[in-house]
Amino acid sequence: MFKPHALALMKARRANFDQIAEFCRSPRAFLQHLDHAGINRAVLINYVAPEVIGFTAGVNQFIADYVKADPRRLLSCGSLHPRHTANVMADMEQLLRLGIRMIKIHPPHQLLYPNDYLKGVKELEIIYRAAEANGVPVMFHTGTSIFPGARNKFGDPIHLDDVAVDFPQLKILLAHGGRPLWMQTAFFLIRRHANVYLDISGIPPRTLLKYFPRLEEIAAKTLFGTDWPGPGVPDIKKNLDDFQSLPLPADVKQQILSRTALAIWPA
Ligand SMILES: [Zn+2]
Repeated sequence: MFKPHALALMKARRANFDQIAEFCRSPRAFLQHLDHAGINRAVLINYVAPEVIGFTAGVNQFIADYVKADPRRLLSCGSLHPRHTANVMADMEQLLRLGIRMIKIHPPHQLLYPNDYLKGVKELEIIYRAAEANGVPVMFHTGTSIFPGARNKFGDPIHLDDVAVDFPQLKILLAHGGRPLWMQTAFFLIRRHANVYLDISGIPPRTLLKYFPRLEEIAAKTLFGTDWPGPGVPDIKKNLDDFQSLPLPADVKQQILSRTALAIWPA
């Protein structure tokens, strides 16, 4: 589905593009890759962004089929786009029927603010309400994006303050913690709102404590992720090893590597 510019960027930045294409075809091959990396479970991020990246709502059926290989280890993340849905309620019900375990909203690639429901984009409110009622977390990309056509003003996490207030039971995951421009905003929101979590994917683990020096304070709501195979993330196992070598107490690492995610998606 990749648009030519986005595909070119992926290919230029990834030495092992063919291997990743193979993993997209074969969940078995990907599960073996996870075994080698020492990873038990993975959330597989998909989102609908026809304008900037090329992804259509077809990603949802794709990922629902993909995770059937091992639904315990592979968790599906799907998506919908307020401007690319004829009937958002019907599409949301279809997502729930597919058993999608998380919804991703990608403001810089979907070209919207997460709180645009306050300005008439009622579809967003319907998505959040349904996710909230069904216990499905919503992950928001926060921070910048280098893909051609991405608009980075949408990546400021401050707009999620409204969402956290208006949907208090909705689990909100801040992907990438606002990296690299808005880490302080992200840290504030996580401390301010009981329903806001930090996903450390996309933050090089070696720089994690520079960006979040008080990480231990929010460990109970922080979860490990990599953003692999995003253009800036060479290897899953390397991220895990780098995280393990951080000067953090063992129980804090265990919380971030395992327990926070298990609380959201019990095994
Ligand atoms: Zn992202």
